[in-house]
Amino acid sequence: MASLRPTILDPLFSSVVKLPGIGPRLVKLIERIAGAKVVDLLWHIPVGIVDRRFAPKVGESPAGTIATLTVEVHAHTPPPPRNRRVPYRVNCGDETGEITLVFFHGRADYLERTLPVGEKRVISGKVEFFDDKRQMTHPDHIVPLAEIDDVKRVEPVYSLTEGLSPKTLSKAIRAAVTMAPELPEWLDAAYLKRQQWPSWHDAVQHVHTPKDSSTLAFSDPSRERLAFDELLSNQLALALVRLKTRKQRGRPLSGDGALRRKIEAALPYKLTGAQQRALSEITADMAGEYRMLRLLQGDVGSGKTVVALMAMLIAVETGSQAALMAPTEILAHQHMETLRPLCTAAGIRIEVLTSRTKGRARTALLEAVAGGAVNILVGTHALFQKDVDFRDLAFAVIDEQHRFGVHQRLELTAKGNGTDVLVMTATPIPRTLTLTAYGDMDVSRLDEKPPGRMPVDTRLVSLERLSETADAVARAVSNGAKVYWICPLVEESEKIDLAAAEERYAHLRARLGEQVALIHGKMKPAEKDAAMESFSGQAENGAKVLVATTVIEVGVDVPDATIMVIEHAERFGLAQLHQLRGRIGRGGKSGTCLLLYAPPLTETAKARLAKLRETDDGFLIAEEDLRLRGGGEVLGTRQSGLPEFRLADIMAHGDLLATARDDAKLIISRDPNLETPRGKALRTLLYLFEQDDAVRMLRSG
Ligand code: ADP
Ligand code: MG
Repeated sequence: MASLRPTILDPLFSSVVKLPGIGPRLVKLIERIAGAKVVDLLWHIPVGIVDRRFAPKVGESPAGTIATLTVEVHAHTPPPPRNRRVPYRVNCGDETGEITLVFFHGRADYLERTLPVGEKRVISGKVEFFDDKRQMTHPDHIVPLAEIDDVKRVEPVYSLTEGLSPKTLSKAIRAAVTMAPELPEWLDAAYLKRQQWPSWHDAVQHVHTPKDSSTLAFSDPSRERLAFDELLSNQLALALVRLKTRKQRGRPLSGDGALRRKIEAALPYKLTGAQQRALSEITADMAGEYRMLRLLQGDVGSGKTVVALMAMLIAVETGSQAALMAPTEILAHQHMETLRPLCTAAGIRIEVLTSRTKGRARTALLEAVAGGAVNILVGTHALFQKDVDFRDLAFAVIDEQHRFGVHQRLELTAKGNGTDVLVMTATPIPRTLTLTAYGDMDVSRLDEKPPGRMPVDTRLVSLERLSETADAVARAVSNGAKVYWICPLVEESEKIDLAAAEERYAHLRARLGEQVALIHGKMKPAEKDAAMESFSGQAENGAKVLVATTVIEVGVDVPDATIMVIEHAERFGLAQLHQLRGRIGRGGKSGTCLLLYAPPLTETAKARLAKLRETDDGFLIAEEDLRLRGGGEVLGTRQSGLPEFRLADIMAHGDLLATARDDAKLIISRDPNLETPRGKALRTLLYLFEQDDAVRMLRSG
């Protein structure tokens, strides 16, 4: 669908290739650090400053300072021929003293052009002393006198990537900033005044032209304003989704409890107190007349599946259908295996639909779903496909939701009429972050584990002892243990991840033979299944070591796996390590988790990993991670699906987040379609932060 983004924002949403000095090669680099659009550069705010206002005479410029000097060029001294180690030197000076500019691998033609003998130039850089003589190695700036004001100022410093020079990036950002239009004010006038914040336009200018280091502080008014804008767009988008869900009347679903009683009788255990509490919250929501949108949060192994099943049975008891959506095929099949015997015991039909369900089997299944013969349908995002029609979908469970966006949440619920939705997540998201990911969604927490879980002994081991670790694993395997071997996470490079996993696999296989299996995200579904089956099965000749990239991180259940080795643990988020570790010690046997780290560890890294040894409480761990690393990195990966803020810092701007939530609520209650002048300006805000989905909802809603 075409975006209705206001045209005033068009310049900001054009490609950075439009900026001066940016060709196709640089676009790639800029995309890597900031993004491909002009607006992304606005959000790439400085990480430091260089103050170039100090402009002494040459003879008075002290060692070690950044100085902007006006000099006359006296002489060039190129290095002797064929001796590239000697630098190219240019002698300059003023009436008070001399300074030598030093260029390693300097190109003579370029230097002769930029520093013509007998002319004056402005140079800026760090003054050094060598053999009692002043010198400046590779000045940051060399410009004609007329351009002194461009240099003699406080210069923002931006984070870079290899191949991208500070000058090029700064120039592009400066150009981007000049493209920022004046936008209609979307903040409440009284609030804006009280905060003494500048307009959006001025705030953008200000953060990119820092006066001193205070401009970089989280508490700088311009920075706060931009952070608030970002948080408000996030909270407003979530509030709109919620409003849309709320506006649709749900249908009171109560059921007679007959199926639930059968399942309870068939379960080999009793529900924990936490499971019962969550269930009664869900039951009450479902019985209510509004659509349910509830988050069920519970650590790995806290028993979410059975809660979901009981809730789905309520829908089935009323004669309608339920769906359970998992993020991966492996998980969809695992759910299926857990749930099928129970459903059979209750006399109802459960089926699974993934992208692998094809041909006649698929047609037959779709017919059974459309006809209502299937009571519960488990699947992956294949459940969204257009030709999947339910006779009457009343309840949908979305497992491990953080893999899915708001968008998908809406798509699935569009398949039913007033469908109630339960979202399950094993990620112990701290409260503050829950707010950014789900807004004011109702939350049930499973804060009590089923009995019989064994503690996991967690140890830190230096990667230097990799070989001993492999020996220990080999011994454990010969004693009947099953081992997960998790390969290093390499940010943003699936290819390297894969290479690392394959290499480790080859290595372990050389050592342990056929007993080692490999699983990673790039494998074909059938291969993945084969690896999982071999590892989870009881066969004598099945896999005993599963080398995996983080594809196993969510949900996988192999109760008799007792050992986990995680390579480069320091690269993972704590919450992620915790989730991984939750895979072991499930089957009534205690587990061992070896966190292999690359020495030396920083103090923070040490503290983080130590936290994992101390506690098994996912929420505590997540809070700690948030405290130590800040919001963006809590989950350690981009794919976490939690919103990443570019301007707001969840810790520093926590109070702004609360205000943004309240403000969003108020806006929605007064102007739910964003039609007032402020409402219209808020639409621009939503587009500015690329919350197009939320605005779209307004039009259709
Ligand atoms: P989650 O999906 O929250 O990670 P699961 O639903 O897979 O956890 O449950 C983990 C294990 O705990 C399963 O083997 C399940 O059978 C078991 N389990 C669930 N609830 C209970 C309970 N109340 N008492 C004992 N075991 C339970
Ligand atoms: Mg689960």
